[in-house]
Amino acid sequence: MDNKDLLERSLRAVWHPCTQMKSHETMPLVPIQHGQGVWLYDMNGKRYLDAVSSWWVNLFGHNQPQIKQAIRQQLDALEHVILAGFTHEPVVNLSERLSVLTGLGHCFYASDGASATEIALKMSFHYWRNTGKPGKTRFLSLQNGYHGETLGALSVTDVAIFKDTYAPLLLKSEQMPSPDWRLAAKGETAEQYALRCAEALEQHIAAHHEQIAAFIIEPLVQCAAGMAMYSPVYLQRAREICSRYQVHLIADEIAVGFGRTGTMFACEQAAIRPDFMCLSKGITGGYLPLSVTLCTDEIYQAFYDDSTVRGFLHSHSYTGNPLACAAALATLDIFEQEQVLKANRQKSIHMKGRLQQALDGLPVMNMRQLGMIAAFDVKSRRQDFQQGFYQAALASGLLLRPIGNTVYLMPPYVISDSEIDWMVGEIMQLLQGLAA
Ligand SMILES: *Cc1c(COP(=O)(O)O)cnc(C)c1O
Repeated sequence: MDNKDLLERSLRAVWHPCTQMKSHETMPLVPIQHGQGVWLYDMNGKRYLDAVSSWWVNLFGHNQPQIKQAIRQQLDALEHVILAGFTHEPVVNLSERLSVLTGLGHCFYASDGASATEIALKMSFHYWRNTGKPGKTRFLSLQNGYHGETLGALSVTDVAIFKDTYAPLLLKSEQMPSPDWRLAAKGETAEQYALRCAEALEQHIAAHHEQIAAFIIEPLVQCAAGMAMYSPVYLQRAREICSRYQVHLIADEIAVGFGRTGTMFACEQAAIRPDFMCLSKGITGGYLPLSVTLCTDEIYQAFYDDSTVRGFLHSHSYTGNPLACAAALATLDIFEQEQVLKANRQKSIHMKGRLQQALDGLPVMNMRQLGMIAAFDVKSRRQDFQQGFYQAALASGLLLRPIGNTVYLMPPYVISDSEIDWMVGEIMQLLQGLAA
């Protein structure tokens, strides 16, 4: 098929996400034909290293044989069935395995991250209502936090460019100071700063806990804020404070779950168990849309009753889709069989070392890295840095999506050391071009 024709048809028929469509008058879409490992191939055969894991969803590369096979097999048995009143083996197996991994007893499914957030917020409010505290109607979140784009999820999100336009439609929510270590005072360590933020959290919760249902947080890395990282001590303190004042702690591990930060779930690095955990993105290895909200048995029990309306009457049409569950089970199999977390440790050390070396002397700051996420901030006053860097990277065969002046690397786990070296080398050249 003619390339140009496809791009024109796309612009005529498709409304692309998170995009001012007029920008495509000057910035062409990239038509991808196939993928293999960390590489995406366009229709002219040019390849791009997928350094953003196709928006943080891909774990084991494109065209991954085991996941593909699992979906094929499931496809021969059952593509989908209603999950109200019915069940099937993939959803049961997946729920049991996620429960073992997280220590949370029940799994409620949807198809995307924002829905998982909505479910956690609704369930939290409903739990308090069922247990005689209907006044707990408010939610707390962190400054610069991100939890999705639907109205409830956007209400607890704090990214101005996504939120401000819709502010009149949103639920009231309060944002607590972000423990992002870049915001620490001079001479203050990341940990000291995190403790200071936890102090502010405690003061707020102590004063308002009777109105607060839950505190929702992205554990360890606020990804959409530009890979803002913080000390696990904040999570420990948040857990203590929420328990003391009877406020639910919702861990939004949609981006950081499934090994991204070095442990299966980021909460493990603070040795805490949240009341709710939201998972999506990497859950199917980047193959199919699936999300899940897990909760404690105690929360589940508060809905278990003779009364229908005390139950959680929320639903989505594709809840617990068997194909997506099969992809998720294959993803968990790969984690077990291939010692992914261990292999990633080596890769993340390699990535960090190479990046540190490459960035030396270049106009960047705040180099940071956790597991398979690395980021730094570029000192540039160019208004169009984000778009300019994106396009320059694309031209050299690298898919990066800077967030403001932050450049981050979040590659699929199957990236090889030599692919890391190539990726870092390209970034170094792009930055040298900026500095020149
Ligand atoms: C991506 C993301 C979401 C929203 O997930 P969608 O599938 O895009 O709706 C929510 N929370 C976090 C932390 C995310 O990174």
